[in-house]
Amino acid sequence: SKQDGRNRITFFSEEMGALARARDLVEIELKRAIQNREFILHFQPRLCLRTNRVVSAEALVRWQHPKRGLIMPAEFIAICEETGMIEDLGQLILEMACQTSMAWHKSGKDIELSINISPRQFADKRLLDALRDFSSHPDFPTGKIELEITENVLIGDHDFIAQKLDAIASMGYRIAIDDFGTGYSNLSYISRFQLNCLKIDQSFVSQLPKSGPIISLILTLAEQIGATIVAEGVETKEQLAWLRNHQCDQAQGYFVSHPVEEKDLFGVIEDLNTG
Ligand code: C2E
Ligand code: CA
Ligand code: CA
Ligand code: CA
Repeated sequence: SKQDGRNRITFFSEEMGALARARDLVEIELKRAIQNREFILHFQPRLCLRTNRVVSAEALVRWQHPKRGLIMPAEFIAICEETGMIEDLGQLILEMACQTSMAWHKSGKDIELSINISPRQFADKRLLDALRDFSSHPDFPTGKIELEITENVLIGDHDFIAQKLDAIASMGYRIAIDDFGTGYSNLSYISRFQLNCLKIDQSFVSQLPKSGPIISLILTLAEQIGATIVAEGVETKEQLAWLRNHQCDQAQGYFVSHPVEEKDLFGVIEDLNTG
């Protein structure tokens, strides 16, 4: 009836109002959290399938909320991206990650570090300055730092993007394409830009062996352009075996290791390296 319809609309708008208020609250809390540096990094190892050794790790941010405990990026990264707060949060993450990498390097831990760079952070003018500051430090292992960007970062003004990527590469940083194969862009950027690494999205890996043909295609493509290929979201020994048999370079996923706190990382790596 008409009456029901009206109630429904009232109900929806109340519910949406409540949602909007909840979101405003998260936004206010996030602003405060960024100021207070309530974020930590976890690290997920990347295993080389030829040598069976951990060669790299990905930094993954977590929000250490004073009351709610550890909050995962799915709950806050998108809000930060939409509101522009990611520019400050991204800067904070970059600082933490680079400092961590420098500490590892100084203590003789020879491992690469991947850092996620969001589209808005990639567009942020401060990114190049920050990267230049770090790379100019004598103890900083620039060549061991990889920046993970998604395909949608590469849509748009190609000359502008090429310039930025060239500047980053000339400092010695590596560039990886994250979630490869899930973007809506065409693949022309592959030959246009210098890319060091492609990370096959976990949605392909989880569908092995059915997705075998498409993963084989990506492996061939990566070889053609001289990029390292990493399979993400490897959860089973069958997936790992398939990838190894098809000369995939590296694997990352729960079957190898979950993301862990820094204090546990090198113990986990030690165990993985010694089998
Ligand atoms: P991503 O960059 O694709 O990172 C991989 C995500 O998959 C991580 O989730 C990781 O914990 C999870 N994962 C790893 N292995 C497996 C597996 O075997 N199975 C499954 N189902 N999942 C696996 P996390 O840490 O919750 O991060 C989610 C997303 O949030 C990331 O996806 C990335 O887009 C974003 N994110 C995380 N940290 C950062 C950051 O420091 N900066 C930015 N800009 N984004 C970040
Ligand atoms: Ca990533
Ligand atoms: Ca990914
Ligand atoms: Ca993803």
